[in-house]
Amino acid sequence: MHVVDLRSDTVTLPSDEMREAMAQAELGDDVFGEDPTVNRLERMAAERVGKEAGLFVASGTMGNLTSILTHCRRGEEVILGDQSHTFIYEGGGIAALGGIHPHTIPNQPDGTLRLEDIEAAIRPDNVHFPRTRLICLENTHNRCCGVPLTPQYTGAVADLARRRGLGIHLDGARLFNAAVALGVNVKELAASVDSLSICLSKGLAAPVGSVICGSKAFIAEARRVRKVLGGGMRQAGVLAAAGIVALEKMVDRLREDHDNARRLAEGIAGIEGLAIDPANVHTDIVYFDVVGTGLAADTLIKRLSDRGVRMLSVGPKRIRAVTHYGITADDIERTIGVLEEVAKPV
Ligand SMILES: *Cc1c(COP(=O)(O)O)cnc(C)c1O
Repeated sequence: MHVVDLRSDTVTLPSDEMREAMAQAELGDDVFGEDPTVNRLERMAAERVGKEAGLFVASGTMGNLTSILTHCRRGEEVILGDQSHTFIYEGGGIAALGGIHPHTIPNQPDGTLRLEDIEAAIRPDNVHFPRTRLICLENTHNRCCGVPLTPQYTGAVADLARRRGLGIHLDGARLFNAAVALGVNVKELAASVDSLSICLSKGLAAPVGSVICGSKAFIAEARRVRKVLGGGMRQAGVLAAAGIVALEKMVDRLREDHDNARRLAEGIAGIEGLAIDPANVHTDIVYFDVVGTGLAADTLIKRLSDRGVRMLSVGPKRIRAVTHYGITADDIERTIGVLEEVAKPV
């Protein structure tokens, strides 16, 4: 049975062109700075987002961890959203490994943090308090329906950060999805932040890897932190080669994933018992509620899976589906058909 796997855009397999590039990649020891393919990927990623330098890391989690450890010392504080990936899904790494204190404030439904909430969270200079050092944003926002943050909003937070002497880091795991959805150059989304991390292994379909981008000085420090974390990889060009194909070939096609997500949302909206606001589908991520079916999300997931459609349950009554490379418009129609079958109340 052909399985339509919508659990995440991380399940993508590398394209034939990626496998070919990996097989042919020119290699060296990257800890000596001698892997030409890694060097090329780092330069290319930095150039794409308009920063001076890049650093190839194993994952998005490692990208955020390395970046935040580079910005903050032990006992210092980072302001981030209570729905952010870094706060919820990264194993508490910044606290566990960096002694960095997470100060969460509410994410608004549109993925933003209110400027007044950020202001209020910045600590006064007083021995009782940790020192605030950094603000983190996430674009697109995974838990907030994959919504993109605009360059204007990001710029406003960056202005605030600068005015208050703080750094700003962007978790841009799906920044290219944001650029495509907003119709802006990805540089505009990155221009005002000090550092950002982009994932090659989500919608861009590379098998492994993320790139941190920032100033030369920031990346030089981040390179030290990455080594400490055990992330100094040797002939990593074999992975970077796929990342280069991802940046060159997989960005423009994200539009297709967004179109498929919108079509899926419209289909779901027409099914009794399922609840979704299609206007709340912005990129490749679709969340919907199953309350009206009288079924638990897990039950529905099981029924879908038995019919070759996989999704993720993200709450007792909430399900997530993500479109990606390898999912076709036909797969979406089939998914809607299967949902219609399984969503019938018992
Ligand atoms: C997936 C994701 C990450 C982490 O990436 P991994 O490669 O899975 O470690 C970070 N931030 C966001 C918003 C993500 O969606």
